[in-house]
Amino acid sequence: MADNAELLKALADEIRGCKACRLYEQATNSVPGAGHPNAEVMFIGEGPGYNEDKQGLPFVGQSGQYLDYLLNLINLKRETVFIANVVKHRAPDNRDPLPDEIQACCGFLDRQEQIIDPLVIVTLGRFSMARYFPNAKITAIHGKPKYETRRACLPLFHPAAVLRNPGLRRDMEADFKRIPELVAEMKQRRQSAAPAPSSEGPKPSEPPSEPPVQLKLF
Ligand code: SF4
Repeated sequence: MADNAELLKALADEIRGCKACRLYEQATNSVPGAGHPNAEVMFIGEGPGYNEDKQGLPFVGQSGQYLDYLLNLINLKRETVFIANVVKHRAPDNRDPLPDEIQACCGFLDRQEQIIDPLVIVTLGRFSMARYFPNAKITAIHGKPKYETRRACLPLFHPAAVLRNPGLRRDMEADFKRIPELVAEMKQRRQSAAPAPSSEGPKPSEPPSEPPVQLKLF
């Protein structure tokens, strides 16, 4: 059976060839996502920007630098988490993705979530928030997690919004610091819900034991 890294690579290849919506037409590269194939935390942004489109990697511009700063605050390295977007090709002139584009692309994100099976999904910005918290307002729900059977979803501001409005910085950093406690909580919940192991060997929900894999996209 294929392991998560292989499954994610095959999915990235599919994304690279996708023409299911108009966004591929003006993009330089697809940006399927990158990070650890068994990540406990998965971040979901909106869509690739200028730098992401050029490099084929998520969050590599100024927003990415701020995301790295935030990860550092909670002692997480980028290679240990997985970072993806709602749409995998850049929208022209950084416009918002349109509803039909989000709809066309959502199956890829569904499959990434199924493969990685993270303990915590962190949404960054309105469009990823809308996937898990329909009709909610980010100013009302940021930092307030929602619990599902196998995971928690935590809505956060988009790093670019915080860079544009430094008044959000304190809230963003306080919200971000909730991630470790949510990871611990969900780990506990899964363990208490899981049947006793019948044989030795790693359980699917255990922390990654293999070295981190950064998915190179080209
Ligand atoms: S944005 Fe998504 S649906 Fe649209 S072409 Fe790219 S991969 Fe396909």
